[in-house]
Amino acid sequence: MRIIKLALLVWLLSAVTVFAEEVGHAVASGHAAHWTYEGEAGPAKWGKLSAEFAECSIGHAQSPINLTAAETAQMPPVVPAYVTPPLHIINNGHTIMVSTSDGGETNFAGKQYKLVQFHFHAPSEHKIDGKTYAMEIHLVHRDSNGQLAVLGVMAKRGKENPEIKRLWENIPKEAANKQVKVDIASMLPSDKSYYHYVGSLTTPPCSEGVMWYVLKKPIEASADQLQKLAALFKHNERPVQPLNGRKLLFVKDTPALATPMVAAATHPPEESSPPPAHKETSTSHEQLVSAATEKAAESKNGGISSS
Ligand SMILES: [Zn+2]
Repeated sequence: MRIIKLALLVWLLSAVTVFAEEVGHAVASGHAAHWTYEGEAGPAKWGKLSAEFAECSIGHAQSPINLTAAETAQMPPVVPAYVTPPLHIINNGHTIMVSTSDGGETNFAGKQYKLVQFHFHAPSEHKIDGKTYAMEIHLVHRDSNGQLAVLGVMAKRGKENPEIKRLWENIPKEAANKQVKVDIASMLPSDKSYYHYVGSLTTPPCSEGVMWYVLKKPIEASADQLQKLAALFKHNERPVQPLNGRKLLFVKDTPALATPMVAAATHPPEESSPPPAHKETSTSHEQLVSAATEKAAESKNGGISSS
């Protein structure tokens, strides 16, 4: 009996060591407890693993979700402006993450956010009309107030993707951190029609108040490329969460709309010029934001409304 107890103690100590290493890998993500995508520390248990993770189970505005029955809306387009400095690529034990302090930015709904990092989930976390894609890329952005906006890009099986090829060739062993150069913009589809809603991080601590912009059109990656991610993580997707009455918008990419907006910005207003296409839409966006982030800090909300 005593021997069994001793063996259990040794096993527990080794588990604690693994946990400590995991925290070491989790660059700047502040993971407080070991979590996984299966079993005792899997998604259904995340909220119980640590007080800091409580939102994973008690939150009412969680991600991912099934993107379906969206309300069509008019909002400014998603305009990425990424650059290609050397990026840092790591395997943090949960995903392949590429981080940057100078990777450029994206304009979401008329507001600039800096790219912080991007990472991969296989299969996809969001569903589109119930359909799961082979992979989903999350490009995580932050504005000057600390507000997060994530651009989700689906990938389906198809042609080999040259940027993903370069990334996969540079996946470091374990905790190492390697440099890699990729053209992030070419990892996006040309049609930037998007779904928009307010949700959460899809990993612990599942913090809410995250602006989600998920592109409808997928990019392609080869079966081998998809297989490589599966070989590393088996699967790393959180199941879809209930919408709980949140607004889900769909914004169609209409390049034609961009012309009058540019004209309005570069020329003095004329009597005959049409009202800016984004005027009424920014109101509906602010309403959406304020309705969905009631629980979020007032300062954040004020920051958004002021733009
Ligand atoms: Zn993610």
